[in-house]
Amino acid sequence: MNAYAWMDDALCAQTDPDAFHPDGPGHGYRAAARVCGACPVRTDCERHAERLEGTGSHADRHGMWAGTVPRARAKRAETAAKDQRDALIIRLHDRGGMSPEEIATAADCDKRTVYRVTAAHRDQAAA
Ligand code: SF4
Repeated sequence: MNAYAWMDDALCAQTDPDAFHPDGPGHGYRAAARVCGACPVRTDCERHAERLEGTGSHADRHGMWAGTVPRARAKRAETAAKDQRDALIIRLHDRGGMSPEEIATAADCDKRTVYRVTAAHRDQAAA
């Protein structure tokens, strides 16, 4: 099956494409957000944008996808990346046999983050 077949039903393909990439003062995403709100392939669009943009910063993202502006997508990607990192830290910590330094290296963070995440996990488990 064609991975892009969902695009056949994309409402933005039937409207003004410039509304999804507004620029200049006084221009906004309001019109595009209305279209996205009624779009039947919003979930596919959201997944596509996530794959396309990865963990890029706000500056690397352009236009509206699935009803979300670049800043919101960047924030969501950042939160997802932190959640993934924290889950890895907890998994490695709970498995045992690794020092905080080794866990920090494996999770690509500093040792303080390892201490903070494992302490919060311990507090949560105790509650
Ligand atoms: S949800 Fe995605 S595919 Fe649908 S109109 Fe918005 S940008 Fe286009």
